[in-house]
Formats: sequence, structure tokens, C-alpha cells
Amino acid sequence: MWIAKTKTELRKNIARGGGKCVLVPTMGALHAGHTALIDMARAKAGESGEVLVSIFVNPIQFDKKDDLSNYPRPIEQDLSLCESHGADGVFLPDPNEMYAANRSITVMETSLSKHLCGEARRGHFNGVCTVVLKLFLLSGCDAAVFGEKDFQQLAIIRRLVRDLDCPTEIIPHPTIREDDGLAMSSRNTRLLVKHRADAPRIYRALQQAAKHSAPNIILEAARAIILESPYAVIDYLSLVRADDLMPAEDLSTPAILACAVFYGEIRLIDHVKIPALNS
Ligand code: AMP
Repeated sequence: MWIAKTKTELRKNIARGGGKCVLVPTMGALHAGHTALIDMARAKAGESGEVLVSIFVNPIQFDKKDDLSNYPRPIEQDLSLCESHGADGVFLPDPNEMYAANRSITVMETSLSKHLCGEARRGHFNGVCTVVLKLFLLSGCDAAVFGEKDFQQLAIIRRLVRDLDCPTEIIPHPTIREDDGLAMSSRNTRLLVKHRADAPRIYRALQQAAKHSAPNIILEAARAIILESPYAVIDYLSLVRADDLMPAEDLSTPAILACAVFYGEIRLIDHVKIPALNS
């Protein structure tokens, strides 16, 4: 497995044979959620294709300096996971390699990012779109795998590809969870023990609430279960339409019940899909 730290090394290493190049963009601190994406990329690329994993903690998508500096970076462990899951190459740039000091162009998303994480983290998705477009251009990948765990990100990347005519196929992967239901996240390892023990209530709350059929009852039910916790602080809890991520006033079309919850400094996100009533 090759490792490229610069754009020049990346271009030199990428095989331009007949096979497909499938990219898995990550910020590292890899867990079973990420490795499932790498496995899917391997299956998609086949033997003749190439699987590229990028590991880059993208500074321009962080709204809090502390979150950026505290982001875990277990690079040796990440590289060995990439290798054991069949990656052909890893792109591991540092921020100065990715961004010119006087960079002045950013990709801006103006609709799907209005609510949910986009509302709570201003500018976050512009940073995500900018780095993902750069990774697509640098790698020339044919396809890229993204986790449904970050469903707003996935929707925005699909919009990016549609609106900017990127020739990149977007492949979604379902959320991978711990045995107790907590969505796997690089942030889970930073939870205090008592917070980690409590955090599975997030998914439980969303699942229980999704059994109701009126938006206000759904939201109240989820809020009540989360706030039974002495530790959980809700950043947002929203029911949005699955197609445009705008607030859902009814369940005539598929919806998504999504939340971000703080345990101390650690912010966890999760969601469940709710099918349209009578569908
Ligand atoms: P990150 O390193 O957090 O930026 O995530 C890199 C990719 O892994 C994104 O496409 C995420 O949606 C995906 N991912 C992270 N956690 C999970 C998970 N628990 N299940 C599935 N995909 C995930």
C-alpha cells in the first residue's frame, strides 16, 4: 500500500489502468464504520480497480478550534487498518499541502445546509464541499463512498455532484453501530465512561419516537427520552423531509428524525428514517 503526502505524490501513485478508482474520504481515527466503507470500496473497485483512502482532518470544516486540535490522530493504527482492509493507497496531506495560504475560493451550499448540522455549525458544509471537490479533482476517482451516518453530508455531496457536474458516482453505506445501538464515531472514545454508558439512549429515543405518526408527538417523544438523561444536552432535534431537508409538517412524504446531542464537550449525531404514512 502506498502513502502519498503531497498532491504530486498522489498523482504519481494513482494507477491509470482500466479499473475504477474508488475513494473513501475520512478524517482518520478509523473505526468499524470507516472500514466497512473501505470494504465496500474494495468490492466496487474489484481486483483491477484501485481503492484510495484519504485521511485529512479538514481545518476549514471545524467551527471550534478546540474540536480541531483535540481531534484524535492515531495515524499508525489508521494506516494498518487501511492496509488490512485492502486499500491500495492512502492520501495523507497536511493542511498547508491542501490549502494555499491566500486561498479565496470556497464551494458554497445554500439550501440543504440551512437546518440540522448546517444551522448549528455555520460554514461547516462549505468546508466539507470544498475539500470533497478538491479530493475528487486530485484523485480523479470514478466513485466515492460516504456513510449514511452523516446523512446531511451525503445529501449535500449528492447535490454538489449534480450541481457542479462531477463525474463521480456517490455510493452510500448504512450506519454501523455498536452492539448497544450507539452510532460508531471517532468522537465516542472521548466520551466519559458515564456518558458513553448513557449515549445509546439517543438511538433508542429516535427509534421509539418514530413509531408515532404526528410530527409534534414524534419530536416530543424523542425529546422526553433524551432529556431523561442527567447528562444529555440537545443541540438540535428535528424532523425534516428526506428530499430537501426542510422541516416536515406532516408525514405525507418520507422524513428523517435527526438530532445532535452534547455529552459534555462531545457532540454526537444520529438519525432514523421515517417512511411516508400509508406508503
Ligand atoms: P469522518 O472520518 O467522520 O469524516 O467520516 C468519514 C466517512 O465515514 C464519512 O462518509 C462518514 O459518514 C463515514 N462514517 C463515519 N462513521 C460511520 C458509521 N458509524 N457508519 C457508517 N459510516 C460512517
